[in-house]
Amino acid sequence: MKLYGLKLRAFPTLYQEDLMKKFAGANRFAYNFYLAERKEVYDNTGETLSGARFKQSLNVLKDHELFKWMKDMDKFALETGIEQVEAAFKNFFEKQNGFPRFKSKHTSRQSYTTKFTNNNIQLDVEKRQVKLPKIGWVKVRFSKKQWAHMETDVFARHIKRATVSLQSNGTIHIALTIEETIALPPTVDWSAVEEQHVLGIDLGLSHFYIDSNGVKIENPRHLKKYIDRLKKEQRKLSRMVKGSANYRKQQKKLAKYHMRVANCRKDFLHQQSRKLINENQVIALENLNVKGMVKNKRLAQSILDVGWSTFVTFLTYKAEWANKKIVSVGRFFASSKTCHGCGEKETGLTLSDRIWVCGACGAEHDRDQNAAINIKQEGIRILRHT
Ligand SMILES: [Zn+2]
Repeated sequence: MKLYGLKLRAFPTLYQEDLMKKFAGANRFAYNFYLAERKEVYDNTGETLSGARFKQSLNVLKDHELFKWMKDMDKFALETGIEQVEAAFKNFFEKQNGFPRFKSKHTSRQSYTTKFTNNNIQLDVEKRQVKLPKIGWVKVRFSKKQWAHMETDVFARHIKRATVSLQSNGTIHIALTIEETIALPPTVDWSAVEEQHVLGIDLGLSHFYIDSNGVKIENPRHLKKYIDRLKKEQRKLSRMVKGSANYRKQQKKLAKYHMRVANCRKDFLHQQSRKLINENQVIALENLNVKGMVKNKRLAQSILDVGWSTFVTFLTYKAEWANKKIVSVGRFFASSKTCHGCGEKETGLTLSDRIWVCGACGAEHDRDQNAAINIKQEGIRILRHT
């Protein structure tokens, strides 16, 4: 379940617009009335007049000649005015905002919020109209994006509330808060997945990754170019007088390169993760303790540059959306040092040994592809046991 906000341009009739203005006025009245009462009670007694207490007294007032106009109002417009004061005080006490101020007809946006009860608010997507309490069906317009969203398959939609706002230039919006229950994707029995649908990938340093089929993906070359440029500009900055005009100019330039590096990397990571998710059912990868590895200074720069953890994040959420699976294989699983053919462990390997020959069975291994195959096999083993 998640909340979706749908803000629609509304085209009420003149009569409906008049009612909307009245309800916005009622909201402002309730807000200002409660704020004034609360201040007065506090000044005289030091006590706080609760919103619930004030609501009760307002209900009594409705029978009074002077206040019986309230009966014609949307009662939620009044209630939410009281709730807005309470929220304003809460913000004030949490030091996020100044002391609550009165709403003025001229300076504040005219708006009111009404709540859903007994189908008083409805949305008719086909006829492009929204039903509001005491106002009836109001014509609305959807943007293309909103229309596309309403067409997506959602298990259930429940309207929680609607806020009507009237701009001084005459435009009117209705913002609906809708609780959407997403249809559950079909459940897949991952423990029975076929081996050919599982891909193991080994994230590398000399290249971005290598998969269990031996496909190597290189790091994007222009990223390296941008990083080199970034380092050069950084050195220039360090030689300048702090706070000088040139220094500030150079800072701006540097920020631009930082942004380019970040965007370039992000595009690449999105592209690669999208491709992997489209082409595979299950992706097995090493559960990298990036923080731990970054302690090794020689490796630090390149690991940060490749953005592995971001990559794993992208893969994970894309997999979730597409109903695919990411299996993470234990970090201390000796993936590059174990022969995937016979299981023999080679203890003498260092990071610079790219190719090695298994001492037990004589098979020659590309260090990284061997690791990717081991990761795939370990991934399958994990799936079979869950
Ligand atoms: Zn072997």
